[in-house]
Amino acid sequence: MIAEIIAIGSELLTPFRQDTNSLFLTEKLNELGIEVVHKSVVGDDRAELASVARIALNRTDIVIFMGGLGPTEDDLTRESVAEAMRLPLRRDPDIVAGLYARFAARRIKMTENNSKQADVIAGAAVMPNNNGSAPGQWLEGSYEGKKKVVILLPGPPVELKPMFMEQAYERLRAIAPPAFIATRVLKVALMPESECDSRCAPIYKEHNGVQTTILAGPGDIQLHLKARADTLEEAQELVDVLAEELEDELDERVYSTGGESLEQIVGYYLQMRGATLAVAESCTGGLLAERITSVAGSSRYFLGGAVVYSNELKTAMADVPPLMIAEHGAVSKEVAIALAEGIRKKCKADIGVGVTGIAGPSGGTAEKPVGLMYIAVADGKKTDVIDRKVPGSRDRVRFYATQQALDMVRLKLV
Ligand code: AMP
Ligand code: MG
Repeated sequence: MIAEIIAIGSELLTPFRQDTNSLFLTEKLNELGIEVVHKSVVGDDRAELASVARIALNRTDIVIFMGGLGPTEDDLTRESVAEAMRLPLRRDPDIVAGLYARFAARRIKMTENNSKQADVIAGAAVMPNNNGSAPGQWLEGSYEGKKKVVILLPGPPVELKPMFMEQAYERLRAIAPPAFIATRVLKVALMPESECDSRCAPIYKEHNGVQTTILAGPGDIQLHLKARADTLEEAQELVDVLAEELEDELDERVYSTGGESLEQIVGYYLQMRGATLAVAESCTGGLLAERITSVAGSSRYFLGGAVVYSNELKTAMADVPPLMIAEHGAVSKEVAIALAEGIRKKCKADIGVGVTGIAGPSGGTAEKPVGLMYIAVADGKKTDVIDRKVPGSRDRVRFYATQQALDMVRLKLV
């Protein structure tokens, strides 16, 4: 079975608000083996809405509308969907009574416009809203002679999510033919997207039953694998076999196969080895420590460290010799190594990390351009150091530096 999701609200067509509900709904529909084949966003306009509704009803089995169920003039979903399906609306007296009671309980007088939230499309079942005023609707009807399921949900995520899970999810399971979708995410650190794709594409081609999507961020690539089959085991087998072949190809560049973040994986390894970590950060200004400590339980392996933005603090907190800074500059291989080794000693950690670089957008020179970074990881036996020159914004450069540092720690521990 295939579905279309329609997000309604003029605010969703501005640069300020995103349709996030459809991400949630797509995940849940996929769990039921229902594929989302179209998504639309439409403003609070009755004609546009009815037209989008007709298009969706023509091409999919399940159409989910969300938003526009409130009491105001611009809440037009009920009318527009009823118009598209050529069905009348009836005002449900029980819902009206419930709305009056809801207001009375808050000692507020209800304005008459609230009553339109009680308008129900003929033949639809009402889905009470336990987290807001506008009820949802579930309609099994027909359009142009074909059976359709039409669902109306409120826009606010805090209302939509529980209503869908409590009142629509099992109903959909009962009508959707059993089909199972299995997914798998492989995460790859610090490989250019083009290289990753050129190595993986020949492998994908041997697995036509699996849909693959590549998502790339700074220093990070996610390979999303998705397969559908008549049983969950079959679907799982399809993605697992492909995942294994991709892992063989990309080898230690794959840091996670179960959805974990790089900082979580680094945490696992540190815990497994019983090792502790400390960091001295210049250009990342604490972002590395932020990522490490975003993992619950990180106190078991992360001791702390220092944000050493000025030259003086590089010396005071991580024992970087002032002469070294004068000779090589604060952004240099030598200083990165000294930061890693210095902070490791100061904090009595097993592993120390030093990060220095030029995040930009200003401050670069011909010799040391914006995006240049040096990252060092010391474990008392050997200090690894890497230099990179990363294009892009300040945010991108800083994130990339943390990604590089985390991955170097990971590689020291595997
Ligand atoms: P409505 O049901 O149209 O009154 O929606 C009320 C609130 O829910 C507004 O603050 C919207 O921005 C939010 N909202 C509506 N649709 C969505 C959506 N698709 N994703 C996320 N938020 C939404
Ligand atoms: Mg709205």
